[in-house]
Amino acid sequence: MAELEGLEFGKSDFVLLDEVTMEQFMENLRFEKGRIYTFIGEVVVSVNPYKQMDIYGKEVIEDYRGRELYENPPHLYAVADAAYKAMKRRAKDTCIVISGESGAGKTEASKYIMQYIAAITNPSQRAEVESVKNVLLKSNCVLEAFGNAKTNRNDNSSRFGKYMDINFNFNGDPTGGHINNYLLEKSRVVQQQEGERNFHSFYQASNNDSLCHKAVMAALKVIGFTAEEISSIYKILSTILHLVSPTLNALEDYLLIFASVFLSVCVKHISELTSTEAENARKTLLYRTVATGGGEVIEKGHNEKEASYGRDAFAKALYERLFAWIVGRINSVIEVKDYNPALHGKNTVIGVLDIYGFEIFDNNSFEQFCINYCNEKLQQLFIELILRQEQDEYQREGITWQHIEYFNNQIIVDLVEQPHKGIISILDEACLTAGKVTDTVCLDSMNKKLGQHPHYTSRKLCPADKTMEFNRDFRIRHYAGDVTYSVEGFLDKNKDPLFQDFKRLMYNSSDPVLKEMWPDGKMSITEVTKRPLTAATLFKNSIIALVDKLACKEPYYVRCIKPNEVKSSMLFDDGRCQHQVAYLGLLENVRVRRAGFAYRQPYARFLQRYKMTCEYTWPNHLMGSDQEAVEAIVNQHGFEDDVAYGHTKLFVRTPRTLFTLEQERSALI
Ligand code: ADP
Ligand code: MG
Repeated sequence: MAELEGLEFGKSDFVLLDEVTMEQFMENLRFEKGRIYTFIGEVVVSVNPYKQMDIYGKEVIEDYRGRELYENPPHLYAVADAAYKAMKRRAKDTCIVISGESGAGKTEASKYIMQYIAAITNPSQRAEVESVKNVLLKSNCVLEAFGNAKTNRNDNSSRFGKYMDINFNFNGDPTGGHINNYLLEKSRVVQQQEGERNFHSFYQASNNDSLCHKAVMAALKVIGFTAEEISSIYKILSTILHLVSPTLNALEDYLLIFASVFLSVCVKHISELTSTEAENARKTLLYRTVATGGGEVIEKGHNEKEASYGRDAFAKALYERLFAWIVGRINSVIEVKDYNPALHGKNTVIGVLDIYGFEIFDNNSFEQFCINYCNEKLQQLFIELILRQEQDEYQREGITWQHIEYFNNQIIVDLVEQPHKGIISILDEACLTAGKVTDTVCLDSMNKKLGQHPHYTSRKLCPADKTMEFNRDFRIRHYAGDVTYSVEGFLDKNKDPLFQDFKRLMYNSSDPVLKEMWPDGKMSITEVTKRPLTAATLFKNSIIALVDKLACKEPYYVRCIKPNEVKSSMLFDDGRCQHQVAYLGLLENVRVRRAGFAYRQPYARFLQRYKMTCEYTWPNHLMGSDQEAVEAIVNQHGFEDDVAYGHTKLFVRTPRTLFTLEQERSALI
């Protein structure tokens, strides 16, 4: 509370800066003061402390529980509580969107938020609610084991995007949930950058992470995975290890020597682990079945390149399907069953989104293209929800609004996703064209069609630019900055082909878990005519669905900032932080907030809460309308200059006003 008074209070919300400049913003952000959270209105800005902070204990949770945002210092708990209160008191579906770059602290934040929600719910300790909570919390451990890896940026980097809905009953207790995962970085299974590792799960099963392994096993059991399922999971991991092991890498060399000892040993392991016929497994690695024009089905031997390509694609697909299956299996356990709104009241939801932030690397490929497109979509949603809704509400309420200039990134979203014209369409077209369309041919087509676009640059059209390469690079001017993409590999990653023979092999496995993951292996070669959707289109569809889900909820935002590149608790790299503040649009966010009003409440609600602080309104007012009664309260306290009267709501400019009222109120009750 002490922090709310005097100067410190001003600094706990960026809205209260003297001037909204990058300099002042940075001054207030620096975390040496030991404060890692700061508000912008209801948005929490968080700086990764890279050290354990003593601010997450039970007592702290109690401080935040059920309190208003402005009553306590900024904290994730304040936002979690605000989202929870809106959900419980007003029956609103809410969501908490956590964004920031890799290593900024998103996943840790999402865990603290979940823990907070778990701590404040189910006070009567009902067993069925406790069990739902337990599964929800334990699912994190499993998802991290299979979806996270050590990277150069983060020792525990999530290599997938995660959106989790938590369902609540009318009591405000969790009844279940649903997890959506986005774009698992499956290429990591076959290849990692210098200094990075494969997914944690591969090491846990061997012996260098045995403690974690125990925790994951325990979590799997709590969630309800059967012993058979767990055994299948680990068999699949071993299969993948065999596939990507140096031994089978020798496949290239030994391709022509079918009897090679290496190959037959490997094939034996693989067929045992996947419960398939050894001969079928061997054939699948070395041949593919093709239907000739005349409807004849023949077996065609792979050349070295095809064989190793097929094997890698198979290893990646095995892991991707395993991960998707695990998520689906968790969902089947936490899915809300037998919910009868007539009996149980409205089922409300809090969604938590923890998804990769904007990425600009030295070498940007298809993955960065997808991730950055996703961030454009989320920025679009942010603009729509926070900026536009704000303006709309002022207009609706008849309050004078000072127009704020902000960059609307819809034009970039269109550049990527517009049907027939956008980059994804051009990529898909190239993938569907029979014959040999190369990445370069596709780039040519993009340059021709998009060369005039203000957010697209090609090296061809800009020959003076030596930072890009001919026939290889294109650049998008994203809202967060310019990113040059190398088109190499785009088509292949987009098409993401896997020989049907692998699918059939898996579908014919006598391991029921494995079989379940490959329903599309059922089709025979002559049936497989419909082209599957491309990776970019699948991703686009999933992100559009995600945005639709978020758009109908009341949003809360956590914006995470990474203070330095070296995981240090001491360093604050001004340049890197300024860059993040800029692309997260935080200054614009403060400006909108300041131009406007920090708080607003319908007259009746305001009156109900503060009527005891004014002699004319307590216990009941005798004025013509609630608005007049509210005016009486405001005038009695001398806050006239800090408020505006809308058609249905009172608008309050600074949080301090509300804080004073709150203090008076608590002194009286
Ligand atoms: P992201 O999900 O944004 O990539 P993480 O949440 O995994 O980043 O955080 C990266 C690392 O930073 C964590 O493993 C942890 O060491 C540290 N970290 C993040 N947030 C906190 C926090 N609130 N307190 C202490 N350490 C943190
Ligand atoms: Mg993460």
